Amino acid sequence: MNLVPEAAAIEPQMRDWRHHLHAHPETAFEEQATAAYVAERLRSFGLEVHTGLAKTGVVGVLRQGSSERAIGLRADLDALHIQEASGVAYASRHAGRMHACGHDGHTAMLLGAALALAKRRAFDGTVYFIFQPAEENEGGGRVMVEEGLFDRFPMESVYGLHNWPLKPFGTFATRAGPLMGAYDIFEIAATGKGGHAAMPNLTHDPMPFAAGLINALQTIVARNLNPQDAGVVSVTQVHGGDTWNVIPEHVVVRGTVRSFKPDVQDTIERRIREIAAGVAATFGVEATVRYERRYPATVNTEAETGHAVRAARAVVGDEHVDTDPVPNMGSEDFSFMLQAKRGCYVWMGAGTGAATVNVHNPRYDFNDAALVVGASYWVTLAEQLLPAAALRRAA
Ligand SMILES: [Zn+2]
Ligand SMILES: [Zn+2]
Repeated sequence: MNLVPEAAAIEPQMRDWRHHLHAHPETAFEEQATAAYVAERLRSFGLEVHTGLAKTGVVGVLRQGSSERAIGLRADLDALHIQEASGVAYASRHAGRMHACGHDGHTAMLLGAALALAKRRAFDGTVYFIFQPAEENEGGGRVMVEEGLFDRFPMESVYGLHNWPLKPFGTFATRAGPLMGAYDIFEIAATGKGGHAAMPNLTHDPMPFAAGLINALQTIVARNLNPQDAGVVSVTQVHGGDTWNVIPEHVVVRGTVRSFKPDVQDTIERRIREIAAGVAATFGVEATVRYERRYPATVNTEAETGHAVRAARAVVGDEHVDTDPVPNMGSEDFSFMLQAKRGCYVWMGAGTGAATVNVHNPRYDFNDAALVVGASYWVTLAEQLLPAAALRRAA
C-alpha cells in the first residue's frame, strides 16, 4: 500500500478522534457536540470554518496557491438509534444511540486528510471539507444542498466515501453510473366495514384486500419491469384487527421500494397506485396510497469516477480497485449532492474475514486500520485533482 506519510504519522490522533466520537454518538440534526468537536479541530489546523449549515453541518476551507479551482470532500457526522453491544472500551455512553455505520471513522479520516493536506501544502486551489449531518433517514445532504452548499462554496466536483465491511480491507470499489439505489416508502390504508366475524356477509372485510394486495404487489417487479432492470418492492408491515371474532374496519400495509432508474421508480409508483385501487374495488373497501420518495439513486459521473479510481489505485494498487462492482440497493443521501454536482462515491473495503460484522449491527465497530487508508485516498485525490504549480510544469 502506498500510504501518505503525513497521514500515517497522525494515525494515533485519528484513532483518538474516532474513539471520542464513537463514545459520544449523536443522531440526525442533533450533532451539536460532534460539530463543535470537528470545528475546533479544523480551526486548530488553520482552516477557515463555517458552521450551522443544515443546522449542525460544518464546512472547512483550505486554500493554497493561486488557482481558482475547487473541489469538495464529504463525510457524515450522525449515528443511529441502536443500543450498542460491541463491548469495546470506547463504546457509546449515550443509551440507545450508536455509531453503527462508521460515520465516526469517516469524520476522523476526513479530519486527518485536512491536517495532512494542510501540512503538505502540495496542491493549488481550494479544498472544501464537508461534514454533513443526518445521513441516516433524514436527508441532511439534501438540506445542505437546499441551504446553498454549492452556492456558498463553489466547487467543480464533490466526492464521498463509505467504509464497506462486505469488501476486504485494502480494497476500493466504485463504478460510473448508479452505485446505490433510490429509497422510497409507501403506505396503503384501507377502510371497509367492520362487524361480527361470524356474519362476514354483512361486512366489507379489509383482510382479503390486504392479502390480495400483498400478492399483487409482488407482480410489479416480476411482470411490469423490463427483466434487465432492477427493482425491489418489499411489504414490511401489516396492521389490522384486535381480537378473534371481529372483522376490523381498517388495515394498513406499509413497505419500501428500491430502484436505480427514474423510469423504473415511476413505473413502480404508478403500479402500486393502480393495484391498490383495483384490489380495493374488487373487495369493496376504500384505499388511500401515500407514496414518498426519500433518497434518489446514487449516480456517479463518468470523468469524476475516473479521478476517484486513479486516486484509489495510487493508494492500494491497481489490482485492489474494483471498477465494476455489483450496485447495492441500499441508499445514501450523498445522492442529493450528486444530483446537484458532478462527483463520485466510493466504497472502501473494511472487512477482515469471517468475523466481520456489517454496518447497522449492534456489534459493529469501524475498522481503525482503514483510517490511514481513507485519509491517504482523500489526500491523493485532492493533490491529483488540484496539482501544485511545480507539478503542473513538470507534467
Ligand atoms: Zn447507515
Ligand atoms: Zn453510513
